Amino acid sequence: MNDKKEDLKTKLTPEEYYVTQNQGTEPAFSGKYDGVKTPGTYHCVVCDIELFSSETKYDSGSGWPSFWEPSSASSVDTEEDVSAGMMRTEVHCRECEAHLGHVFPDGPQPTGLRYCINSVSLDLKPSDDNEEDEG
Ligand code: FE
Repeated sequence: MNDKKEDLKTKLTPEEYYVTQNQGTEPAFSGKYDGVKTPGTYHCVVCDIELFSSETKYDSGSGWPSFWEPSSASSVDTEEDVSAGMMRTEVHCRECEAHLGHVFPDGPQPTGLRYCINSVSLDLKPSDDNEEDEG
């Protein structure tokens, strides 16, 4: 575990490490994916599995990238988080346990959920034109 953490310290930027490994939060409206509408898939910045699709991304006005559903039920896992004097539900990568953000019950239909995710936890892979033509 310590070796893995040391390895991640060299692989990730300090901000990526802080958010994904120490349950950090990037400042609102600071993240690179906050206003982005580019079609594609958002992957875990640590282990690269697909976490969210641009098709479920919406503008929540919160200042963080927001999605109403993960790419699949096996993408993310949640845990109750009582830190910071609040009852919240923490969201992390199911594969590598990187902290992603929190999920709140005030999202749009059909799920009613708002996955409020840090940009630095994500890596957007834009769909290329060939894939769009096939789809
Ligand atoms: Fe991961």
